[in-house]
Order: sequence, then structure tokens, then C-alpha cells
Amino acid sequence: MSGGPQIESPHVIVVGGGLAGLAAAAALAESRCRVTLLEARRRCGGRAASYEDPVGGGLVDACQHVAMGCCTNFLDLCRRAGLDDALRRDRTLWFIGPEGDRSRCTPSRVLPAPLHLAPLLFGMRHFSVGEKLALGRGMLRLARYRPAEGAETATALEWLRLIGQPERVIRLFWQPVIESALGESIDLVGVGAARKVAVDGFLAHRDAADLIVPTEPLGRLFGDRLVGWLEGAGVVVESGMTVTEIERATDGRVAAVRCGTESIPCDAVVLAVPWKAAGRLVPDVVPDVAEQLAGSPITAVHLWFDCDVIDVPHAVLVGRVSQWVFRGEPGSGTHGHCQVVISASRGLMQGDRQKLVDQVVAELREVFPAARNATLRDAKVVTDPTAVLSVRPGVDAQRPAATTHVPNLFLAGDWTATGWPSTMEGAIRSGRIAAVAAGRYLGLTVPAVVPELPKNPLVRLITAG
Ligand SMILES: Cc1cc2nc3c(=O)[nH]c(=O)nc-3n(C[C@H](O)[C@H](O)[C@H](O)COP(=O)(O)OP(=O)(O)OC[C@H]3O[C@@H](n4cnc5c(N)ncnc54)[C@H](O)[C@@H]3O)c2cc1C
Repeated sequence: MSGGPQIESPHVIVVGGGLAGLAAAAALAESRCRVTLLEARRRCGGRAASYEDPVGGGLVDACQHVAMGCCTNFLDLCRRAGLDDALRRDRTLWFIGPEGDRSRCTPSRVLPAPLHLAPLLFGMRHFSVGEKLALGRGMLRLARYRPAEGAETATALEWLRLIGQPERVIRLFWQPVIESALGESIDLVGVGAARKVAVDGFLAHRDAADLIVPTEPLGRLFGDRLVGWLEGAGVVVESGMTVTEIERATDGRVAAVRCGTESIPCDAVVLAVPWKAAGRLVPDVVPDVAEQLAGSPITAVHLWFDCDVIDVPHAVLVGRVSQWVFRGEPGSGTHGHCQVVISASRGLMQGDRQKLVDQVVAELREVFPAARNATLRDAKVVTDPTAVLSVRPGVDAQRPAATTHVPNLFLAGDWTATGWPSTMEGAIRSGRIAAVAAGRYLGLTVPAVVPELPKNPLVRLITAG
């Protein structure tokens, strides 16, 4: 039932053109409201962005982004916007062990979940049989984890040690997997967030662990194509518009949004900006959240060699500074380009960039024979110091809901309460949740959040804990 005014064609302003704002606008565009999206930067996409390649020209992603098969709202938005052709589904995960041994790990297409993971776990050549069994046990224990008395205090590392996971298994499986999925180090993230990775990202469904890799630069995918599709659906997208104030009427409701000297009236606002910007714009709604929430850095090391050096589409490099390597898309004008991604990179931020490049190149030369004779033409290190929300124990209690005490103001963003970590899926979910709440206020029908992948009875039994 609507809690707000019944307006024929209400005007909703979405502030922020990252994936949360774009998803909110997409959902609202399916109702009978008018939608305006205001983005401060020249191009939409937010943190899922690209920059101009100084060497070959064209767009290069600031940092490689991947989704997983479990990201139902990400996949749904891409499908509806016709972006499917620019997403590759890698079913095989490549792990490169400490000695350079390669493991090609592919979940079964035949066995029911969670047994589909058996070939993936047993495919890891750098583990002994005992370690593989311990890893399987750890996965099941994690799936059954429930915080004592509802309060989560332990970090993933503390908990994995508590249940007796071998140090090698922690260092060579849990650490790279959890850190790359959550963007934060294993000794800081809460067990609940690690459980989400294990259950939703691996155990829940045969397709859950599929890696979804964009094959076009994010700037083109989201900044151009997704925006073009939204405009086609009637959304007015205005970039280069920094919102400086959310104007309120005497009854406290939002009346307009101000961009410098221009005031744009509206019936509701979805505020889809990062938490610090939200705190500045509506300090009474998002008061001290900046003190309670912390960001985690992610570093991308871009390397341009004179030839292609990576002979697999991607690889997890375990037990090294380099965590993931992604090959530039063949045929996309990125010949010889590859990208190494290092999550939770705060230890590297103050260090010498050249030393980091040297170390990463040395690691690649160790494991990829073609890199040994290749000449490095250029390198670029890009670090986002607050790439993602640090999902520490208890953080979910601090993440605000989409609805606020201002009846026509709704919050979105990967940092809001979605139950998901700070990812593209989390951002898109948040946008949809906020759009549904705004729709409810205005008496509009807005499409609901897409449910997670269905769990079969065996998975439900295992994860019920
Ligand atoms: C280096 C890095 C690697 C990552 N890797 C992955 C990955 O592999 N997989 C994955 O799923 N996720 C990854 N993420 C996380 C993912 O990018 C984010 O979770 C997601 O893009 C956040 O979207 P958002 O819309 O919530 O926020 P943002 O993308 O931050 O969007 C907020 C938007 O609001 C705009 N804005 C701010 N203030 C104003 C204002 N006053 N007026 C108007 N506009 C304003 C900003 O310009 C921005 O465009 C990564 C992030 C980084 C930085």
C-alpha cells in the first residue's frame, strides 16, 4: 500500500550513476514514473569504470571486474539491457600453486549441488588428499555456521583456525578465495561474509561458481550501452551534474535536488552515492556512518608486453603477492595487455610502485613461460583506497536500510543493507530494493529483486545448520 501521495506521473530523481543508481533507474523506468538520473562525473558506471589507454588508445578498465553465476540481479540487468553478448562465462577456474603447478578446476555439470564441487576441490593439485578432505569439511562447517546468540565477533581467519583448518589450506585456498570475493583480508572479514562466499558462491548451485567476465571495457558496457538502453526506456540521464543539496520542505520531505544554482523539483529521491557523500548530503539520515564503516583498497597492476604472455583466460595465483591475473581480451585491441589484481592491498599502498611492478612481473615470469622472453613495454598501478566496504564482523548491523526516516528519501549503494558484500551484485540489488521502496511510497509497481539461485533439498539440509 502507498504511504505517499497519489501522483499521476511522479518524478523520481536518482542521484549517482554507479551500478546502484543505474539499477534503481532501470527498475523505476518500468513503472509509470518519470526518472532523472544525475551523475557527477562525465560518464556513468561509478567504480565499475574505465580510463583511456595511454599506449594503444581506447578504454581500459581501472580494475578488472568479474561477477559470478550466483549474481542473479547483475545477470538479469545485463540480460534485460541486451549486454549478454559482452559477458563471457568461464566455468573452469585456474589455480596456479606455489610451485607453479596448474590446476584446472571445473565443477560438475552432472552431479547435484553441492556434490558438483567434488571435481573442483579434488582438481587442486597443490593439495594432498588429506588437505582436500579438510577443505571439504571446512566448506561444510562454514555452510552450517551461525553466530552465537546472533552476534558475530570472529573474523574468518580466527574461525577457520578454531575449526582446525590446516594452515596450508587457509593460505592456499581460503585466503585467495575469500579475499578476492570480498575485497578484504581474511583476518578482517567476518565469518558471516565468508559463509556467504562459500554458500552462495560455491555450494548452493551448479552454476554458482561460474566466473562472469566482461569482454568489453566497463566504460563501454555500463557507461555507454547500459545508459543508452536506459535513455531508450525514457530515463533522463544527466552526467557532469554534482548534486550539492537535497532540499527539504517544511514537513521534512524531499522537495527538490540542487546542483549548484539549479534546483530540480521531484516527488522522491533515490540517493545512490558512496557513504561519505551520502553523509555530507543528508547528515540527519546518514549521520556517523563514516566512522562506523571502513573501506578496503584494491590494486590493479596493468602490464603491456610486446606479445600475449598469459595462456589461460584468468588464473588465481596462490601464495604470491599477485592474486589474480586476467588476460586482455584477444581481438579487442589489448594485445599483450594483462592485469594483476590484488585485493586488500593496504600493505602495498605506501610502497614503491616500481618494486611492486618488478615483483608482479617476476611472479608472472615464474609461472607463464611466454612472459620470460617478452619485453615489458609499459606498466600502470591503479589503487582505489576505498574500493569496497570492509565487511568486518558485525558490519551488517551498521549498514542502513533503503527506507529512511524521510518518507520520500531512499538509500542505495553497495554499502547499504542488502545482505550481500560490496560488489556489482550488491550494488544492483541495493538499487532495486530502493526502487521497490520508492515505488511502494508512490503507489507504483516496480519489479522486485531477483531471487538467489534455487537451492536443492540437499543444499537446504546442509546449509540450514
Ligand atoms: C578496484 C575495484 C575492483 C572491484 N572489483 C570488483 C569485482 O571484481 N566484482 C564486483 O562485483 N565488484 C567489484 N568491485 C566493487 C564494485 O565496483 C562496486 O561494488 C560497485 O560498482 C558499487 O556501485 P555503487 O553504485 O554502489 O557505487 P559507485 O560505483 O561508487 O557509484 C556512485 C556514483 O555516485 C556518483 N556521485 C557521488 N556523489 C555524487 C553527487 N554529489 N552528485 C551526483 N553523483 C554523485 C559517483 O560519481 C559515482 O558514479 C570493485 C571495486 C573496485 C574499486
